[in-house]
Amino acid sequence: TSGKGMPLHTKVLTGLILGAVCGGVAQAILGAKNPNLAWFNDTLAKPVGNIFLYMIFMIVVPLLFSALVLGVGELGNAAKVGRIGILSLIMTVVLSGTAVMIGLGAVNLIAPGDHIPAAQRQELISQYSNKAQGEKQLEAAKKEPEDPPLIGFIPKNPFKEIVRALDGGLLPVMFFALVFGLALASVHAEQAAPLKAFFDSLFAVSQKVVEYAMKIAPFGVFFLVFRTASSVGAHLFVALGMYMAVVLSALLLHQFGTYSLALKFVAKISPAIFFRKMRAVMLTAFATSSSNATLPLALQTAEEEIGLPRDVSTFVLTVGATANQNGTALFEGVTIVFLAQLFGVHLDLAQQLQVMVLAILAGVGTAGVPGGSLPMIASVLVMFKIPAEAIGVILGVDRILDMCRTVLNVTGDMAIAACVTRLSGRQGDALNDTIQATS
Ligand code: ASP
Repeated sequence: TSGKGMPLHTKVLTGLILGAVCGGVAQAILGAKNPNLAWFNDTLAKPVGNIFLYMIFMIVVPLLFSALVLGVGELGNAAKVGRIGILSLIMTVVLSGTAVMIGLGAVNLIAPGDHIPAAQRQELISQYSNKAQGEKQLEAAKKEPEDPPLIGFIPKNPFKEIVRALDGGLLPVMFFALVFGLALASVHAEQAAPLKAFFDSLFAVSQKVVEYAMKIAPFGVFFLVFRTASSVGAHLFVALGMYMAVVLSALLLHQFGTYSLALKFVAKISPAIFFRKMRAVMLTAFATSSSNATLPLALQTAEEEIGLPRDVSTFVLTVGATANQNGTALFEGVTIVFLAQLFGVHLDLAQQLQVMVLAILAGVGTAGVPGGSLPMIASVLVMFKIPAEAIGVILGVDRILDMCRTVLNVTGDMAIAACVTRLSGRQGDALNDTIQATS
């Protein structure tokens, strides 16, 4: 690849397009069953693609664990702050829950992952399935007596669960992190400080490892997509396009539907004026794909443009940048169900509820940085017996979805700040007259 200055996401997208084109051409010229092509895919494309994926998988547990402990810790501290904290917490849960429901509704209704012929699906499954791992999972399932679903995710032995987190044991680990984070938030500040510093550091280092992995992402994506395109063919790309359309329309609905309702009826301000004043913030979120990077502008806008009281907005926006990510929650829900459809895994109602809970948690435990949600998806997939490698299918198009979901992540924080301002009776302070809803 040429051009040192090319941004990473452009390189990844280039990897995707080149992989799809080369794979498609190879299939057209040689035929999908060509032995040389199969040899190339097995000995080169698969291992190189997997180096990249395994680099991400290896850091999933420390990354998620530290992110969730810190995120929950922040929400816990928020609750300690009192009324404003509790109100933000409730709004976070309600808005994330709504976002995920919109996403899950759309992906189940349209079922983009079903749009692939049976033969191609079989090809896809055999290409990604890891027999050894599948058998290990079966064995594990056989040995352990089934706990009822509600207590099944409380880990008897968290360290054992951490070891098998990537074989489908992620939920217990997350539950452990949740309780741990809450406890961390409720002990004395000076007692919490060393552990908090430890998790801060663990989190920063884990993110560095993801960064290393992303450096080889363009090659990884090229080979992953080449292999898929040369054996599964163009059908996959039809499904992928539909998947993107589902994510984008669900995001749009939440952005302009749900938030407008919350602004109009809870915050009692005019959604139209709110969105107009949010333009620069939304554009920054879109361009940077990072809630954290958008935070300074969001803080300024809250105070100067919208007129929210500074203490409320600083608090809600800062906590929200990591702990309230509605766009991410929606995206995770849709993506898991889509990949399940693609791989022919049927998710029953109980499992869809699990997806919902996990997606809401993902909104809390995802870092406000580009691609922050990807490690989470990889580990959730295995819980539902979908190979973690399946994430390779969506990787190439993730950046554009990331840009869009980050817009919701920051808009959601601002909407909550406005609602909390009203609910705590603080609207008289500074809220600009122009934005007060007229009805
Ligand atoms: N990029 C998102 C954010 O910063 C996180 C994600 O990957 O979903 O808000």
